[in-house]
Order: sequence, then structure tokens, then C-alpha cells
Amino acid sequence: MKAAIKSPKSAAAAEAGAKAAPQSGVKAPARPRAKAAPRRKTAYTPAEVRAIFERFQAIDPEPKGELDHVNPFTLLVAVVLSAQATDVGVNKATRELFQLADTPEKMVALGEERVRDLIKTIGLYRNKAKNTIALSERLVAEHGGAVPRDRASLEALPGVGRKTANVVLNIAFGEPTIAVDTHIFRIGNRLHLAEGKTPDAVEAKLEAIIPADLKRHAHHWLILHGRYICKARRPECERCPIADLCKFEGKTNDVPVPLPALA
Ligand code: SF4
Repeated sequence: MKAAIKSPKSAAAAEAGAKAAPQSGVKAPARPRAKAAPRRKTAYTPAEVRAIFERFQAIDPEPKGELDHVNPFTLLVAVVLSAQATDVGVNKATRELFQLADTPEKMVALGEERVRDLIKTIGLYRNKAKNTIALSERLVAEHGGAVPRDRASLEALPGVGRKTANVVLNIAFGEPTIAVDTHIFRIGNRLHLAEGKTPDAVEAKLEAIIPADLKRHAHHWLILHGRYICKARRPECERCPIADLCKFEGKTNDVPVPLPALA
């Protein structure tokens, strides 16, 4: 009798079952591993990817970040402070901080102890205060008090990683970077739009599939979609503008909400 051809899923389940089954003592000969197919960039056609981002654009043509700031420096500090904290919480803490210090020079003059006191409602505030002062000192010493526009210089600053650099490059300097946060990471994987085990892997795939003319605001659109509609616990598929395109197996609706009329 011929063995049934297994789908990758059932094959994986069978493999898992085989692992869990008690061993007979006789070792099966090692089977050569099938060569893994190259991982696809996305489950969507280029036309579908374009349609997704054009709908986001129709709803919100000029999306804005939700971290309050008055210049590139205060944006940089706000993003550094936002790690493992909500934007609302950061905005509350930075209101007074940025009134007192909106330049690296003023931040250095304010001092670590005072900064620590002003941001103590934010998680990890001790370390964040230390980084805020250290990065301000570096900006004064190495960049004439300005925020550099290149990724390498940004990532060399204390407390600044790839995601923070991407946010600053995008919002302060208009670069088409994609900062993968928790929402974008979830959407990339859930929708099979840009699957990856790490934020960098998701970022690389989004970079590769999003059309150049829609890249500038892509990260904001994805964050807003993840924050307000495609939520972590229960995606609100009934309010979703891309419900017909979405390839998430667990979606509960496939009729998209109507888009606002385009001017
Ligand atoms: S249909 Fe549901 S799962 Fe798919 S993108 Fe919309 S909210 Fe998310």
C-alpha cells in the first residue's frame, strides 16, 4: 500500500509524534534530510502588498508618531526612553524634561540625578537616565550638539540600537526606514506578510517587498494597524481595511471596511 503524501504540517506533526513515541531500541537508519526550500519573502503577490499599503495610505496619508518631541534630539531621547514603556507614559515624563532640556548641552547641564528624578515613572529609569546623559555628552563632544543623520553614528550612541536609529532616521530625517517594534513583528508573522524569527529578519523582508513609493510611512501604518486593529490578543477583523487580503488563518472576517473617499 502506498503511503499518503503528507502536507508539510502533517509531516511535522508525524515527526513530533515519532519523537514522543517510546523507542523500540532498534535505531532506524538516519534518513537524509530533505533540502529546505528557500524561505519565501512573503505570502502575498506584489499587487497584494501594494494594495495593503495603498489602503493604509488612503486612511491616513501622513501618519505621525505618538511620542511627543520638539526636535531630533528630543525625539532621540523619547525613543530611548520608550523601550518597554508606553508612548503615553513617556510623554507624561518628558513634558517637564523637554521644557528644561531640549538640547544635549542643556541635558548635560541638568545632570543625571535630576533626569532620573524627572523620568522615574518610566520602567528602567535609572539606566535610561544614565544613557540620556551619556548620549548627550557624546553628541556635544563628537557631533557639535547635533543628532547625526547616519545609522552607524546613531547606533554608536549609548542606549541606541537599530530600532531607535530607524525611528529617528524615519521621523526626524524622512528616511524610508522600517523600525520593527512588537506590533510590526506580530503582524509580519501573523499575516505571513514578512515572517521571521527576529525583528531584523522581519525588517529585511519588509524592506524587500514594500514598494519604494510607499516605504516612507510603512512602519507607522503597520504600528497603527497593530496597535488599534490587528491587536495582539484579539484582532478586530470586523474593523479591518485589509480583511479580504489578509492571509491569517485565524481571521474572523474577510470583508474589508470601506475606505474613506480619496480626494
Ligand atoms: S483580518 Fe484580522 S488578522 Fe487579518 S489583518 Fe485584519 S485584523 Fe489582522
